Amino acid sequence: MKSILAKYRDILNDFEDFETGAYRRERSAEPENLHSLKKDKGKVPEETDLSACSLDELGRLIRSCSRCPLGSLRKNAVPGEGSSNPEVMLIGEAPGAQEDESGKPFVGAAGQYLDKWLDAVHLSRRENVFIANVIKCRPPNNRDPEESEMKSCFPYLLAQIDLLKPRAILCLGRFAGRKITGMETSLRNMREKLHYFMNIPVIVTYHPSAVLRNPELRRPVWDDLRRLSDIIGKS
Ligand code: URA
Repeated sequence: MKSILAKYRDILNDFEDFETGAYRRERSAEPENLHSLKKDKGKVPEETDLSACSLDELGRLIRSCSRCPLGSLRKNAVPGEGSSNPEVMLIGEAPGAQEDESGKPFVGAAGQYLDKWLDAVHLSRRENVFIANVIKCRPPNNRDPEESEMKSCFPYLLAQIDLLKPRAILCLGRFAGRKITGMETSLRNMREKLHYFMNIPVIVTYHPSAVLRNPELRRPVWDDLRRLSDIIGKS
């Protein structure tokens, strides 16, 4: 049970994220079939030892995953893609419609904008970046990922980070930031610090979709990208 103070803090955080342009906007009722699928939780497959998997094996497991109800709603899971020896691992929130169609991360407008950010700091998904998401299947109507979905999917992200051992992690948006830093707070608070996850330096910045909607966020993102560059010695 959350204390009144914790609830008040949540409201303030949500308001701040709303004000600064939270990523998800499109929200409507979930399709009928999701409600019935949620009841069907017995279908979680046996735990596999993900730490023994290669990147390709992880990709195959993710594409056939049914650990949570989203597995039955997707067209394609989106395991992530990029260099297998990345300097930076980018972590977004969840696939959207175009990613669900293609099975690739960040292929829509936000992805094209993200490529410009990377270019500005001499990074690219082909050469030195791996892009993944906190959850690998599209939530219906692009709604926020649910805690249970993130919990089911997190082992895949952990295995990817452990395998790829990037020199730095850049979290895009509040969901990735909260999951990786463990801080239940606003994006602004998470941005203020350099975090560590599995001994890897972590920077949290705004989601590219939020910046597309709110150009005032460009400046703070640029500051974050420069900090990232400094960490990996690219500036
Ligand atoms: N937004 C995300 O967070 N991830 C994607 O892959 C696409 C859009």
